[in-house]
Amino acid sequence: STRRTHSSFQYANLTVEKSTKKQRLPSDPDKLGFGRYFSNHMIDIDWDVKDGWFAPKIRPFQNFSIHPASKVLHYAQEIFEGLKAYYGVDGKIRVFRPELNMERMRRSARRATLPDFNTREALLLMDELIRTDADMIPKTDQASLYIRPMMFATDQHLGIGESMQAKWACFTAITGSYFDYERGIRLLADPEMVRSWKGGVGQYKMGCNYAPTIFVGKMAAMHGCDQAMWLSGDNRMVTEAGAMNLFMLWTNEDNELELITPSTESGLLLPGITRQSVLELAREWNLMKVSEANFTMCDLAKAIREHRVHEFFVSGTAANVGPVSEILHCDKERGIMEKLLIPTMNSKMQLYKRLHTTLSDIHYGRIEKPEWQRVV
Ligand code: PMP
Repeated sequence: STRRTHSSFQYANLTVEKSTKKQRLPSDPDKLGFGRYFSNHMIDIDWDVKDGWFAPKIRPFQNFSIHPASKVLHYAQEIFEGLKAYYGVDGKIRVFRPELNMERMRRSARRATLPDFNTREALLLMDELIRTDADMIPKTDQASLYIRPMMFATDQHLGIGESMQAKWACFTAITGSYFDYERGIRLLADPEMVRSWKGGVGQYKMGCNYAPTIFVGKMAAMHGCDQAMWLSGDNRMVTEAGAMNLFMLWTNEDNELELITPSTESGLLLPGITRQSVLELAREWNLMKVSEANFTMCDLAKAIREHRVHEFFVSGTAANVGPVSEILHCDKERGIMEKLLIPTMNSKMQLYKRLHTTLSDIHYGRIEKPEWQRVV
């Protein structure tokens, strides 16, 4: 098991050490929350520049021991992913499109100057981890297993330069639902609060993108909002919200019914796997024009005032699809806080609901869509 490999870690070299302790879980899935209860095992793999990848380990969930100079602790050289496994109605466990997460993680790794790995080997390791703790996944469609792969620089050297050592790890959390959908999601749109910029790293899942958003999240909460809506540039282009992508069903300026989501071409937002899935479903259903294009806060506010916005919703692994009911817009030019109400939950079409249900049916195996369901 000391065999090292250069291009990627290898599932074939895996060693498994079983945990003797068992984590206790609340029996009521409503009490699980998000990312609070961890399962009994984790993947741990070391890398160094000289010898490449060490043999992967599955071992009991436990603390890391890392050097105080590790670059991750100083310069935030860290990337991560978020995906889910679901206990299906037929007793099979399905992971939703995990190859897309691993490909996104490899793009993040490249940008973060962390080592590359093989998508298939990572998938095989995650399958094994999920199987190891399979009995912890609640047998209900009100819960799921959130999977958190990560990689970070563990160098023993403070220089800001390429890390000589890194760790790839993955653990899982037993998770309930994320939002209270009854009330709808309220977003704070403050153009002073910027998440990403041209030439930055907004399109990658790097830890450094999230640290500055915690303060903004607190400000949003102070205003009675659930999340920040991220605007960009002088024209206040709408990009995403919190850690979720955004969709709008509206009657556009050309009087067409259109589902629109901000384009990823700007590099300002994370290309979500749920976003991609919503686009693919909507294009398949062919009920309306479907566009990936930019719109500004000004376009949005105008359309809301003219009652042309039928639905506004977020998409992401944690929340699936969730309706937005209100946007609180700090309009600095007019010197006002404008409350924009969106009738998403009362829309005729209920597109967000149909998307939520379809995705959930695929997650829990009520609908077969094998290319989106990795059975472990
Ligand atoms: N935007 C950001 C900034 C995120 O962190 C996430 C969560 N990964 C998303 C959007 C949604 O992406 P996904 O659908 O892949 O979960």
